[in-house]
Amino acid sequence: MTHPRYDFDFAVAGGGPAGSSAAISLGQRGHSVVLFERDTFPRFHIGESLLSTANDAFATLGVAKRIEAASFPEKWGARLFTHDGQSGRYVDFTDVREVTRPQTYQVCRQEFDRILMERAREVGVNVREACNVTACEFTPDAAALDVASRVDGATCHLRVRAVIDATGRGGLLARKFNLRTEEPRLANIAIFSHYTNVPRLGGARPDDIPLIARSDAGWFWLIPISKEFTSVGVVLPKDLYRSLAKDSPEETLNSAICDTAIVAELMREARREWPVRVEKDFSYSASAYAGHRWILAGDAGSFLDPVFSTGVSIAMESGIEAAAELHRALARNDFSAASFAGFSRHQRKRFQRFRRFVVGFYTPAFRDVFFSPQPPTLIFRSVVTVLAGKWNASLWTRFLNHVFFSMVWMQKHFNLTRPVFRRDRDAGYPIETPSKDPVARGA
Ligand SMILES: Cc1cc2nc3c(=O)[nH]c(=O)nc-3n(C[C@H](O)[C@H](O)[C@H](O)COP(=O)(O)OP(=O)(O)OC[C@H]3O[C@@H](n4cnc5c(N)ncnc54)[C@H](O)[C@@H]3O)c2cc1C
Repeated sequence: MTHPRYDFDFAVAGGGPAGSSAAISLGQRGHSVVLFERDTFPRFHIGESLLSTANDAFATLGVAKRIEAASFPEKWGARLFTHDGQSGRYVDFTDVREVTRPQTYQVCRQEFDRILMERAREVGVNVREACNVTACEFTPDAAALDVASRVDGATCHLRVRAVIDATGRGGLLARKFNLRTEEPRLANIAIFSHYTNVPRLGGARPDDIPLIARSDAGWFWLIPISKEFTSVGVVLPKDLYRSLAKDSPEETLNSAICDTAIVAELMREARREWPVRVEKDFSYSASAYAGHRWILAGDAGSFLDPVFSTGVSIAMESGIEAAAELHRALARNDFSAASFAGFSRHQRKRFQRFRRFVVGFYTPAFRDVFFSPQPPTLIFRSVVTVLAGKWNASLWTRFLNHVFFSMVWMQKHFNLTRPVFRRDRDAGYPIETPSKDPVARGA
């Protein structure tokens, strides 16, 4: 039962994968929880490809069967292509020994997010859609929220023991407390839409994502999200975007597609079904992931470039972790910033482990090694282990990850393998300046 001084034990702001996962986990433990979601579901959201470790989250949240029944396209990994169509090599999640179940999914987010939110309702969470959390204040013994309905403008004020901020890139509390640390080396722009009539890959795993590198620093995703629809997008570092931009996002996307032969071929008969969308400024971290009576989960804390599809899987994982943290805090009756220090450290560590690969991807030396047709099996398997979501892999895997980065270093200085990617300034790779941010430096 909720204490009379509180309207609910906990409030969750935001009903994406992080917010729903946090709310479900709290509800499963018997806490009274209210979740506010600004939009009305179903709603469009980008972020469609999952990692193997998402399966662990599904099991914990009690949605594994529903996700399986939703007939989302199966993802066993990705196929890597260079701009000339060479390689087609697998990033094969079945090679990974450290995950519970390698096969995962590519999802239509409207349906995926709805499944999670329904599950939250089922475990007793009071879910309120079309409700915008407009302010959040903290007193020694409570968190107080102001909420405005987007239907009739009605407002309400309520008190809870603590808040999970899962408002995504909007970052309700990250902005309030000025926590955000930008990632200048990942200042990329994504341009994308949904298409029909995009042929699937041949072979045993037709729905795997083709990840296609351009000859410059850009790359494409082609993600099958249902039988008919494929999500197609290009990501370009900011300077490269400026040099390639046309009069409209549609023209920029079309032109990027046309000047990469393999993508042009795959998109020959494609029909665009939605307006083209543009996203930018999506990579950042936080100087703290929790404080007195608040915790950040998912994109509200940090997000890395979409290249390795980490967003949704990390969002669910961190939502579940945030719920466990508040459950412990209630048992100890200690919601202080100091008591959440371990939570913040854990979030930061995960961010750093993935960040190394993501920043690496935007260098030609990394790409030469990563896309090479026959990389050393053991070493590449250790890389795929992390890319399947197992960021806290065994010591052996982490050692092999180091060997991989040593190969990238050697490629940069001595050309271990034939350089395939352009090195000239116009290729648009971000300039490698050491970051002043301790998180980014891995300190
Ligand atoms: C171009 C691009 C491509 C991507 N591709 C992938 C991919 O292939 N795979 C992948 O895993 N990830 C991908 N991502 C990342 C993915 O979109 C996010 O990481 C993921 O959605 C994070 O989930 P979340 O729950 O933290 O935030 P969100 O999903 O953004 O959910 C936040 C929710 O909070 C609500 N909200 C915001 N403010 C308020 C407020 N004040 N009050 C109440 N509600 C509020 C919003 O309406 C929203 O529903 C991609 C991202 C980008 C930019």
